[in-house]
Amino acid sequence: MQTSVIGFPRIGTLRELKFASEKYFKKEISEEELLQTGKELRAKHWNTQRQAGIDYISCNDFSYYDMVLDTAVLFNLIPKRYKELNLSDLDTYFAMARGYQGTYGDVKALAMKKWFNTNYHYIVPEIEDDMKITLAGNKPFEEYKEAKALGIETKPVIIGAYTLLKLCRYTGKKSLQDIAGSVAKAYQAFLRSCEEIGIPWIQFDEPALVQDMAQEDIALFRQLYDAILSEKRKCHVLLQTYFGDVRDFYQELLAMPFDGIGLDLIEGKKNVSLIEEYGFPQDKRLFAGVINGKNIWKNHYEPTLRMVKTLQAKNIQCVLSTSCSLLHVPYTLKHEHRLSKHYTSYFAFAEEKLDELAQLKELAQCEDYHAASSYQENKKLFEQARDCVNEAVHKRLSRITEDDYIRKPSRSKRQVLQKQKLALPEFPTTTIGSFPQTNDVKAKRSSYRKGEVSETEYKEFTKKKIAECVRWQEGIGLDVLVHGEYERNDMVEYFGEALGGFLFTEKAWVQSYGTRCVKPPIIWGDVYREKPITIEWSVYAQSLTNKAIKGMLTGPVTILNWSFPREDISIKESISQIALSIRDEVLDLEKNGIKIIQIDEAALREKLPLRKSDWKKEYLDFAIPAFRLTHSGVRPETQIHTHMCYSEFTDIIPAIDDMDADVITFEASRSDLQILTSLQEHNFETEVGPGVYDIHSPRVPSVEEIVAALHTMLTKIDRTKLWVNPDCGLKTRGIPETEESLTHMVEAAKVIRKDA
Ligand code: GLN
Ligand code: ZN
Repeated sequence: MQTSVIGFPRIGTLRELKFASEKYFKKEISEEELLQTGKELRAKHWNTQRQAGIDYISCNDFSYYDMVLDTAVLFNLIPKRYKELNLSDLDTYFAMARGYQGTYGDVKALAMKKWFNTNYHYIVPEIEDDMKITLAGNKPFEEYKEAKALGIETKPVIIGAYTLLKLCRYTGKKSLQDIAGSVAKAYQAFLRSCEEIGIPWIQFDEPALVQDMAQEDIALFRQLYDAILSEKRKCHVLLQTYFGDVRDFYQELLAMPFDGIGLDLIEGKKNVSLIEEYGFPQDKRLFAGVINGKNIWKNHYEPTLRMVKTLQAKNIQCVLSTSCSLLHVPYTLKHEHRLSKHYTSYFAFAEEKLDELAQLKELAQCEDYHAASSYQENKKLFEQARDCVNEAVHKRLSRITEDDYIRKPSRSKRQVLQKQKLALPEFPTTTIGSFPQTNDVKAKRSSYRKGEVSETEYKEFTKKKIAECVRWQEGIGLDVLVHGEYERNDMVEYFGEALGGFLFTEKAWVQSYGTRCVKPPIIWGDVYREKPITIEWSVYAQSLTNKAIKGMLTGPVTILNWSFPREDISIKESISQIALSIRDEVLDLEKNGIKIIQIDEAALREKLPLRKSDWKKEYLDFAIPAFRLTHSGVRPETQIHTHMCYSEFTDIIPAIDDMDADVITFEASRSDLQILTSLQEHNFETEVGPGVYDIHSPRVPSVEEIVAALHTMLTKIDRTKLWVNPDCGLKTRGIPETEESLTHMVEAAKVIRKDA
């Protein structure tokens, strides 16, 4: 019995990589210093895994920004516009990730998308017709040698050819089929280099295999790997899947000459029955993903061991593995001092998961594991009651009726009424909510939390910020204003803290994209609103202006999706509990004179099941009604907005319209505008604000650029339905670029009102 880890977090237990990278971006440290930080982190992570006794440790799971971008660069998938900047390799890489505006040019970043059903974002590689696809880098080999020099044998991991091809954007005439051959050749060269160096195992990550696969997809996969594996000599190849099951071609996959196949036995429940039904070849290793790489609850050893024993009984060579990369969970419980042992005894973060793997390995090798103390301890934990039930919540849920999910009157009637009452100009301008969280804001909040400044002082400070922000927005002529979200660190954590049932960590950061990390709360018990949450701030902001202030809430689906969910009740039940809590807040905002309320569902799209056949039953059928439950109680003239990050909802447009919001804003500037065509085709009824500029980059859009974007939008969207706003919240931006960009945006709206 052996153990394997698909990938380890890389940002650093104390976010060392984030801080070093940000310093590098600001030119405060040199390239050497940044690279040194990377090197130290890699060594630390390998050593941690070695000390835990992990047999298959990954290398090249480290990244300065994103592993998909790393793989793209490895194979020279660098669009011309970035090459033409003539920057160093590292800066070209960062230009692709973050955009570049400076002495050598002005280019936007590549698009960014959610990594399958996670809150991690990857950079979308672009394929141009004349790109020379070839093995052009040596990062995986360098990292392998680096680990080797420390006495640690590792398996280099890269994104597999099939997944890479599926994730690329094809900007020229060439399609996926046209480049499959040269991509396979580049991967062959990769494998040959591994052979030359004498690397014993490599890992190709192929999460795209858990999505629906048509016959042609299967054919493509075979074409790629028949070619790649023909180069295999001594090196062993692990085909690693995660986030689901491989039901569409399990048997064919087993017939291919991989040495190991990694299956997710947590999210890919169906994999278990596939193994049951069709078996698993004895000459291959099954990397059995039994430790949940996405959630923070301890593994329940009894069912895990029972499953492992069944596999062993079939004579399957089993390697105990994580279900996916540990990138999606925080590092360690070591830095959590505030949470009592009562709580933490139920959790396992990345480092503790390594120990679980080691313990399970030991137990699985026992004749009879039942007597072992590690087993007994685990058993006891899962037998005792966890004190997480709130009867009042259950009672309230049981009284909900069908009517509670329906807002009246119909949206088309509300839209007429709202136009009268709110009296906004054509193409109303607004923002998504947050304004730059400058250092003074963060410092004040942190001192307040540490008890260094009083509540009065903290509130005064925040109000001053709000007042400045409102005045500034009025000054440049925005139509619907926001209070700026200065009181929030994070859109989910903030609400979680005000709701009963949530737990919070101190240092449990998870990488979201590049240098951005989030600290997801843990849903421990039944959820309810303890007290009003945002009312004071919104009401204060509204008292300063005659323009409408948009109240700002996070929706139930997003709160759940960006938290670590319970595993003892259904997602549906958890979402409904949260929806009722947000409903209380919506009604309070309305009661206190707030006329427009935005309920962010930034994460709604990302938890859509990876297979289409599961979409409705396993998600939309309860997620969409939960959203409606939050706002169905408001008056017809109260305008409900929602916001979604990313625009990949082309295929669920009816469901989005079904949320029954009055207005939706979403990301659009970093993706193609296909979504607009689809909205038009579906007669989308909700008013829309497709983002007119990208907020993930410090680049300032020109007035002309925004006017052009709006003209394009107007070819697809009725003029009575179009809003003008950025892509997303502005909290990660600096003040100068924010002020300039928004001023340009308001200017552009004026131009369009005259022109259009
Ligand atoms: N209202 C939030 C903000 O502006 C929305 C953030 C998000 O969509 N991720 O920060
Ligand atoms: Zn957003």
